[in-house]
Amino acid sequence: MIEQLEELKSRALEHLGRLDALPALEDWRVTYLGKRSELNQILRNLGTLEPSARRTVGQIANDVKRLLESEFNDRRTQIERTLREAEVARERIDVTRPAKPTLIGQKHPITQTLEEIVGAFRALGYDVVEGPEVEWEKLNFDMLNIPPEHPARDRWDTFYVKSEGSLPLGQMLLRTHTSPMQIRVMEKTKPPVRVVVPGRCYRYEATDATHESQFTQVEGLAVDENLTFADLKGTLTAFTHMVFGPERRTRFRVDFFPFVEPGAEMAVDCHGCHGAGCRICKQSGWLEIMGAGMVHPKVLEGVGYDPSRYTGFAFGMGVERISMLKYGIDDIRLFFANDLRFLRQFR
Ligand SMILES: [Zn+2]
Repeated sequence: MIEQLEELKSRALEHLGRLDALPALEDWRVTYLGKRSELNQILRNLGTLEPSARRTVGQIANDVKRLLESEFNDRRTQIERTLREAEVARERIDVTRPAKPTLIGQKHPITQTLEEIVGAFRALGYDVVEGPEVEWEKLNFDMLNIPPEHPARDRWDTFYVKSEGSLPLGQMLLRTHTSPMQIRVMEKTKPPVRVVVPGRCYRYEATDATHESQFTQVEGLAVDENLTFADLKGTLTAFTHMVFGPERRTRFRVDFFPFVEPGAEMAVDCHGCHGAGCRICKQSGWLEIMGAGMVHPKVLEGVGYDPSRYTGFAFGMGVERISMLKYGIDDIRLFFANDLRFLRQFR
């Protein structure tokens, strides 16, 4: 019986050492210290022993019981502490952990570039005006010295709107440029005039990397006494320095637009290669950024200005194009694709 107790003690302790969870610990207590445990059985049978053996065995059995109880309590304390520590570790707030990112809206790159362009002209003293996207043929073409047989009016270039009744100003169409606002402004105001006109325009274009049927334009107009081509160059060079950087050079070359005379296309030396030739400028060293010119006398006459007294200059640029050149974007369709991977680069 003493051997049985010794064997029981070592088995119980060995078993206890392997436990690490409270439910298993409770099972252990029932098995080794419970009412039906082997140890309890021995204690209960002590009465059947000889008095001398009873004392010895009883002593040993009680020692084993106390030992197991004390080992059990130690083990339980230990397991409870381990569990508590694990829980604390799990629940601890890591103040250095980055917060979940919140999605914050931003302006579209076209809007950003538009605001930059318009902001530059505001700084130069220009007012900002906006006009209707559905325009009269007469304002979009005739009064800008684009006669009826001009190819720009071709139905392949222009979206005409179905219109009925008597139409003194011709058909209605989606404006092909923001230039009709030149007419609207001049018809309503006396010189001096200094306005920029941002807005959406439409042309019947097949879509490719550099063409879209919808685009954004900023048009500008200045009319006053004694305005010369030098004023045009000075104004547009100042604009270029604000938008493309103060070290940029400009180049003006003769070009034709029906509503100006003389007309010019303006280029800026490439900011990517400083004129040496690169991917952005297609190896030419120059980026053509807008058309410009002195307002045609016929246009001034048409709105009742005296062309012998007043002169003016006008210019127009595509916002998508400026944006593409500024950021080295090679496909205009990216602006309209609503792809956040693209748009988020313009934060
Ligand atoms: Zn270049």
